Amino acid sequence: MRYRSTGGQAPLTSLRSAVLRGLAPDGGLYMPVEIARHSPEELEEFRRLPFTEVCYRVVRPFTGSELPEEVLWQIVSESINFPVRLVSLSPGLHILELFHGPTLAFKDFGARFMARLMAYFVRSETRPLTVLVATSGDTGSAVAHGFLRVPGIRVVILYPRGRISEAQEKQFTTLGENITALEVTGTFDDCQRLVKQAFSDAELNQRAFLTSANSINIARLLPQMFYHVAAYRLLPATSTPLIVAVPSGNFGNLTAGIFAKRIGMPVARFVAATNVNDAVPEYLRTGEFRPRPATATYSNAMDVGNPNNFPRLLALCRNRLDEVRREIWGHAATDEETLAAMRQIHERHHYLVDPHTAVGVLGWEAYRREHPEPSQGIVLSTAHPAKFADVVLRAVGTAPQLPERLAVYLQRPKLSLPMSAAYEEFKQFLLTR
Ligand SMILES: *Cc1c(COP(=O)(O)O)cnc(C)c1O
Repeated sequence: MRYRSTGGQAPLTSLRSAVLRGLAPDGGLYMPVEIARHSPEELEEFRRLPFTEVCYRVVRPFTGSELPEEVLWQIVSESINFPVRLVSLSPGLHILELFHGPTLAFKDFGARFMARLMAYFVRSETRPLTVLVATSGDTGSAVAHGFLRVPGIRVVILYPRGRISEAQEKQFTTLGENITALEVTGTFDDCQRLVKQAFSDAELNQRAFLTSANSINIARLLPQMFYHVAAYRLLPATSTPLIVAVPSGNFGNLTAGIFAKRIGMPVARFVAATNVNDAVPEYLRTGEFRPRPATATYSNAMDVGNPNNFPRLLALCRNRLDEVRREIWGHAATDEETLAAMRQIHERHHYLVDPHTAVGVLGWEAYRREHPEPSQGIVLSTAHPAKFADVVLRAVGTAPQLPERLAVYLQRPKLSLPMSAAYEEFKQFLLTR
């Protein structure tokens, strides 16, 4: 499979180069040149085969001849060694729990797959690959756990001192081994600037082998098709149209949903469910895309003013507003609505949702009000409620119990190294450590 850039100005390239580069040289995002549909017979088989086998068959066409079969099989089976669960709140509303991985959020799928794919692609390099990530909270832990003990790769995570929660910080600063956390005296924007500057520093890039692990990497997107396939397998076969509501920030999840639809998953429509950072719902309404600075909300992993996967969404819809509208319906929720939804879902169904999932449920409910014809709703549940215990406490009056696999990190000592926001110090660190 060859990959092209959404910018249209970069040469076609291999999966290896798309994954190690991240961003195309023309500033665009990499897309497969074609997406093949599975036959109805194959889709029927997807219901019966083991999940790992199905995921393997889903991703295989995207890797083509670049990976031996047994290598891809190993990458897939190591990446999804935790379950996806479907919880039905009512006959027409199902919650797809994607948070049973090591860091309790859906990002584990993408991070684990990307780490193993990169390790394969750099296997014969003599220099270790250094993965640089700036995080404002959740990406750091998913990436750190995804790459932990992956040979040939070290990860350097930059985060702003005093600006993330202790639970978030402890999840990626206590691991040691091939994971180094840098506690930067500055803001998240400083962390991002340091990373960007490192990538554009020609001298540094000659002496060190650097790559990024942010959400525009095609290797994070491909495995996100897996859980759309999981939903298809977990629901009984039905002719009722399926609506998938996706709590969205950078729109990686929703983009992967459209990929899944293109390979044959029967989804009638996606709901782009956002908090007040509503650039995409606004685009659907007005036809104008106006990126802007992000506003802080309770669903903070979706506080994105300029969704970075938007060019991919457009490319999948041939850059046509009417096609985007056919695929996606948009809805934005406020923090007050989010809290009220968390409370209501708890009262009605005795089920706790995190604020991101609540935004998804609100999107589904709004869709249903405007489209009363029969449909089945699936809401992607992107994080475990315990990850956002303070918001849950505020909404329902009790804090969810912290799962054991998260609690253990709180006891461990933080191993991060202090770093100023000055580029020279960061560069020296990269060259000498
Ligand atoms: C990252 C994240 C999202 C947003 O996903 P995108 O693919 O960026 O749209 C939603 N919920 C949670 C909990 C997240 O961590």
